[in-house]
Amino acid sequence: MASIFTRIIRGEIPCHKLFEDDLVIAFLDVNPLSPGHALVVPKQETAYLHQLSAESAMALGAALPLVAGAILKITGATAYNVLQNNGALAHQEVPHVHFHIIPKYADGSGLGIMWKPSAIDHPSAAALAALVVHELRG
Ligand code: 5GP
Repeated sequence: MASIFTRIIRGEIPCHKLFEDDLVIAFLDVNPLSPGHALVVPKQETAYLHQLSAESAMALGAALPLVAGAILKITGATAYNVLQNNGALAHQEVPHVHFHIIPKYADGSGLGIMWKPSAIDHPSAAALAALVVHELRG
C-alpha cells in the first residue's frame, strides 16, 4: 500500500528533503509544530513500528540522532521531542512508519503534552512483565 510518504520517497510529491540513504528519508513536516519539525521515515512500507525489519529499524535508529543533531545546530533549539504514533487511536494520520523530531522553543512552540500518570499496580505489572518477557523469549 503506497502512502503519501511512499509517493514522497518515489519523488512523485515534492518535499524539503534533509537526508536520504538506501533505507531512510527525512524531510520537513508540511504542517510544522515549530521551525525544524521533521519526519524521519523508513522506505519500507509498513504502518506500524513493530512491523519493521531489523535492517530498516537499524537504519532508522542511525538516522534519527544524525538528523536531530543537525536540526538543533541549524535552528539553535536546545530541546526537542521525538514522537512516533502507531494506529489511528494513537493519532497516527499517515499509515507509514515515521518519527517526528519536534524542536521545543522558549516561546512554547513545539509539542504540547497532556501526560496523565497513574500509580503503578505492582502485582498486575509483575504479571504483565512476565508475560512480555515470555513472549520476547519466544
Ligand atoms: P502522524 O499523525 O501520522 O504521526 O503525522 C503525520 C504527519 O505527516 C503530520 O504532522 C503531517 O503534517 C505530515 N504530512 C502529511 N502529509 C504530508 C506531506 O505530503 N508532506 C509532508 N512534508 N508532511 C506531511
